[in-house]
Amino acid sequence: MYPLMADNDTTLNDEDRPPQSNLSQLYDVIIIGSGPAGYTAGIYASRAKLKTLIISGSLPGGQLMTTSEVENYPGFPNGIFGPELMMNMRQQAERFGTTIVDDEVVKVDFKQRPFTVRSHSELYRAESVLICTGATPRKLGIPTEQQFAGRGVSYCATCDGPFFKGEDIAVVGGGDTAIEEATFLTKFGKSVKIVHRRDSLRASKILQEKAFENPKIKFLWNSVVSDIKGNKKITGLTVKDINSEKEESYSVGGLFVAIGHEPNTSIFRGQLEMDDKGYLILKNQTRTSVEGVFAAGDVHDFRYRQAVTAAGFGCMAALDVEKWITDKRHKEQEIRQRPEYVKGSS
Ligand code: NAP
Repeated sequence: MYPLMADNDTTLNDEDRPPQSNLSQLYDVIIIGSGPAGYTAGIYASRAKLKTLIISGSLPGGQLMTTSEVENYPGFPNGIFGPELMMNMRQQAERFGTTIVDDEVVKVDFKQRPFTVRSHSELYRAESVLICTGATPRKLGIPTEQQFAGRGVSYCATCDGPFFKGEDIAVVGGGDTAIEEATFLTKFGKSVKIVHRRDSLRASKILQEKAFENPKIKFLWNSVVSDIKGNKKITGLTVKDINSEKEESYSVGGLFVAIGHEPNTSIFRGQLEMDDKGYLILKNQTRTSVEGVFAAGDVHDFRYRQAVTAAGFGCMAALDVEKWITDKRHKEQEIRQRPEYVKGSS
């Protein structure tokens, strides 16, 4: 678990304040992140008449903006393209009054309320914050990976697959994403090799069966990518058998890394409770360890990670925010009506 309020103090100091500060605007809730969780929370919060701001993050719309067809989001019997689905959600949130800014949050201060949230260009205040920052694809961590990112190394088959027509392709991973992406890539590639570090897959049986039956897919079991070769673009891989330590070269024109995700929680480190992988720990449904700060979606959910579950969590969190704000206001109202308060204030 990460320590709370330790070596990574993210308090906003005066000198941190960007030139344009939106401190005069007090929001009921600031939603950080704009995937299905963030936009759904925006729809619910603004329909509940909460003054709602979404700060969308570096990829407005989140991971689904880099997805082609989504077939399992209910309500679309013929499927829908990821970016279209996210645009619809965004417009739906705006329709009910959510303000959306396309900026990235760089610092937060959850030590006192109202909370302050700083983006690259503004400083905001809010009674409550709802974190929907999602998760980012995990990297292999080999030195040449960065060098070839965007030059043959990709983390999203649905976004980049069509660029690899007629190529020999490799996919790393053994989960649902890797197997789904490998199957998708056979539409474009000449061949697809799945490099997996064990001798069995963790992907669901139905996806496994499809991949095993696909003549274009071959498996390299108990294997890891140890090097990426190329010049301006990838030309090949070195793959190491982890049992024999033997290395073999393969010529490929593309490498898709599909080995899971890291939660986007670094800016909350030291302020919110997280598990050892950095996922936010929630209690009482959607509450984080700081009262008034809530979370929804892949930033805490490492199990389901679906657009529809993220949207569901976004809905739950917005309802919890609304209830928390309403209760807080009732309590404040009650205190203001107490005789000692009325006497003291006259
Ligand atoms: P995942 O289930 O965590 O699988 C990650 C895979 O990458 C595992 O096979 C893992 O190997 C391997 N791996 C991890 N770190 C590695 C490393 N450093 N080097 C080499 N291999 C490494 O991630 P995911 O496939 O992205 O799926 C995430 C969640 O989304 C899952 O719950 C999944 O069910 C869901 N999902 C569902 C669908 C669908 O239903 N259509 C589609 C995509 C994703 P080990 O197996 O050895 O650990």
